[in-house]
Amino acid sequence: MNLPLITCAEEHNDKTAISTTDRAFTYRDLLHSSSQIATGLLNNSEDLQEQRVAFLIPPGFEYVATQWGIWRAGGIAVPLCVSHPRPELEYVITNSRASIIVAHPNFEGILRSLAQEHNLRFILTSETLPSNIATLPEVDITRRALILYTSGTTGKPKGVVTTHQNIQAQVTSLNTAWEWTSNDRILHILPLHHIHGIINVLTCALWAGAECHLLSKFDAETVWNRICDGDLTLFMAVPTIYVKLIAVWETASKERQKSMSEGCAKMRLMVSGSAALPVQVLEKWQTISGHFLLERYGMTEIGMALSNPLHGERLSGYVGKPLPQVEVRLVDEKGELVPAGTPGEIQVKGPGVFIEYWQNPEATAKAFQDGWFRTGDTAVVENGNYRILGRMSVDIIKTGGYKVSALEIEEVLRSHPDIQECAVVGVANLEWGERVCAALVLQGSQSLTLEAFRIWAKERLAVYKVPTQILIVEELPRNAMGKVTKPTVVELFC
Ligand code: AMP
Repeated sequence: MNLPLITCAEEHNDKTAISTTDRAFTYRDLLHSSSQIATGLLNNSEDLQEQRVAFLIPPGFEYVATQWGIWRAGGIAVPLCVSHPRPELEYVITNSRASIIVAHPNFEGILRSLAQEHNLRFILTSETLPSNIATLPEVDITRRALILYTSGTTGKPKGVVTTHQNIQAQVTSLNTAWEWTSNDRILHILPLHHIHGIINVLTCALWAGAECHLLSKFDAETVWNRICDGDLTLFMAVPTIYVKLIAVWETASKERQKSMSEGCAKMRLMVSGSAALPVQVLEKWQTISGHFLLERYGMTEIGMALSNPLHGERLSGYVGKPLPQVEVRLVDEKGELVPAGTPGEIQVKGPGVFIEYWQNPEATAKAFQDGWFRTGDTAVVENGNYRILGRMSVDIIKTGGYKVSALEIEEVLRSHPDIQECAVVGVANLEWGERVCAALVLQGSQSLTLEAFRIWAKERLAVYKVPTQILIVEELPRNAMGKVTKPTVVELFC
């Protein structure tokens, strides 16, 4: 029995699977190359038996063929991040206890020495692939497939382990909800070491027999050029990317803007996720593209859990309802279900939920309560739709006994004419528990005093939500995913 992804691919042999700026590759190409790579990885053994294979390859056909090759050889794929410095790469390689490293020649400098130091097998993607394909092992879907390291905003990154079965559930849930078909064509501009890029875009596309157009790196002008071509049906991105695309649109000529908008209008669906989508961004994008972005909520550990509907009304500021095969509940600090309208922690159950943090049974045990995964995110259900209030750890601030959402305050601050970006954090304080503080990036050469800021904010927010301290910064600290690293923002105030 083949893995389900391979069986699906065999139905689309001569269709384009992957397209890059240089050329297009069919499903047959992908099946053939991945079987060659699997043969090379097996190196005369019968089955990699869940050995970890870390790989660092820029977005493109080789990346996908290698990922499939690892799976077909019975290994666990450990994708590395192209923008990580050496210590971060070393952490993932050693923490996952990888036995093989596969590298694109661009990364040979760093990775060959790491492989030598740790006595690991080292393979370059430029090496000649075997022409005789070995008998590939039968890989049961209950076996481990992937380890993704979580973004690390909550301490040292942990390896999130998913099985082939988990991936199948995550993918089929989205393919059903968003009605993927083999006629779809998606532009892939997201990092390939993160769930959003690997599952929601790449694997969903290939599962459906669709075309996935990979850009070697994100560039807003290039993305707009591809959208203007008018042949895409789907687009998925994080809010930061929509902000960058909006900025380019705003400086474009009227004629170009028209063509950009027409390209968007040809698509059937545009999705935002992985972070809260500011309402202003959603509205601006709607005027540009005609699309009311479909916002969804998910996490590396669970896949996607909540989504606005493909058909029917989407609500700004909400992430909709549970996706197919996903059970969601909200509980209070004692683990009791909360009534509708009361905030609680989001807990998730279902076949898409990961099986463990890699070699960290303690963290795994802590992450579950009665078989439900504790997301650490707080939400409230209003008229049947979930609204995310923030992370329990950083974005929910307790001040003077009040529980306030940093995301909610940020949304208001972003509407200040002089504020370009902001990050609100809770900073430990003896008297208040936590004080609400805001790091602000101002528009151009604007200046802002605390007094003027507070007068403005008090008109829009309950007084206990108004930041008591502000710090004007050049830019906000972000991790490799472009997410603001709140613990670093907190340090700015200490
Ligand atoms: P990651 O595992 O890197 O995808 O991060 C998952 C976290 O991103 C979640 O636990 C949430 O805190 C956040 N997140 C994902 N989607 C959304 C969303 N639509 N709105 C707000 N936060 C989100």
